[in-house]
Amino acid sequence: MISLEIVNGLKSILEDFYGKEDFYPLHIPVFDHVEQQYLKECIESTFVSSVGKQIDEVEKMLVEYTGAKYAVAVVNGTAAQQVALRLAGVEKDTEVITQAMTFVATTNAILYNGAIPVFVDVDKENMGLCPKSLRDFLEINAELKNGQCFNKTSGKRISAVTPMHTYGFAASIIEIKAVCDEWNIPLVEDSAEAVGSFVDGKHLGTFGLLGVLSFNGNKVITAGGGGAILTNDEELAKKAKYLTTTAKVPHKWEYVHDEMGYNYRMPNLNASLLKAQLEKLPTLLASKRELTSRYIEFFSDKSIEFKTEQAPNKTNYWLNTILLSDRAERDEFLEATNSNGIMTRPAWTLMNELPMFKECQTTDLTNSIWLADRIVNITSSPKL
Ligand SMILES: *Cc1c(COP(=O)(O)O)cnc(C)c1O
Repeated sequence: MISLEIVNGLKSILEDFYGKEDFYPLHIPVFDHVEQQYLKECIESTFVSSVGKQIDEVEKMLVEYTGAKYAVAVVNGTAAQQVALRLAGVEKDTEVITQAMTFVATTNAILYNGAIPVFVDVDKENMGLCPKSLRDFLEINAELKNGQCFNKTSGKRISAVTPMHTYGFAASIIEIKAVCDEWNIPLVEDSAEAVGSFVDGKHLGTFGLLGVLSFNGNKVITAGGGGAILTNDEELAKKAKYLTTTAKVPHKWEYVHDEMGYNYRMPNLNASLLKAQLEKLPTLLASKRELTSRYIEFFSDKSIEFKTEQAPNKTNYWLNTILLSDRAERDEFLEATNSNGIMTRPAWTLMNELPMFKECQTTDLTNSIWLADRIVNITSSPKL
């Protein structure tokens, strides 16, 4: 039973942290005069669209912050994921391995490339793709032919593995990378939720061949809408820029495009907002951590598990996460909070349960099912 004491306890944390409100949203962005100033400057410059100096500036800032050699800013995280997979060699009728518990964007990006998702389980602790589940799947189903990995069951090439760092908590990325290397499969990290999350000082999204970030309005920092592709490979970075800029061959005036490209560049207007947000990222992360420390203290003597970072990982605490004891208690908690002005949300419906992905191959999904029955995300917005 969810006692009134828990709901009231949460409410008093939120009132104390944000001030008294009728409604506490799950995660909203915060702005000050700096966002307004940069947007004003951008509008006055007339460079509001896909060319402008703020785009170059945020790409540079992302390189500095993440430690990736290259960052390419794009329109949103889903587009970043689509293009990153294509750059990794994902093509029609190949298979991409991802986790069953993720946001639908991860899986849609596979479909956009004409490829087929395969779902493995997640780790019960960090909620990201489980390296053991991945290894077991490959050992049973895969074979190497001329250095390429094939699924013996379907006959299709396995063109990428794309783990997702759930709610900003790091998946076991070093172990996942080791399995990918063993099977010669490119690793593309969906680190859309992980801006500001690190493993041993290394930013998530920089462990594989390519990584992806999102700057949607509900993420840690926002561009309104936006995303980025990270890589250490100069050729891939150039190709990312080129593909997302309509695959245009550079020329003083001729319009020549030599393959199917996309109009996926981040507009300068969005980059201006993002620049202000990147400047205050450390402040926002610190504010989120302060809220998290209050939650940790609150839940320490309750029968509800509160997810915390495990050294040497540092999480951004994008969405604070608790685990209820079963699905019935989860539903009771969702009802009690959402009807009391506290926005909370469950985990996503597992990908293999969605109509588009029902036929896809999966491994045993014990942990994914267990977590989906118990996860609730609670109010996590930063404040200034
Ligand atoms: C937010 C998100 C995306 C996509 O980001 P958009 O910028 O909204 O397109 C991709 N994957 C995951 C896991 C996300 O949470």
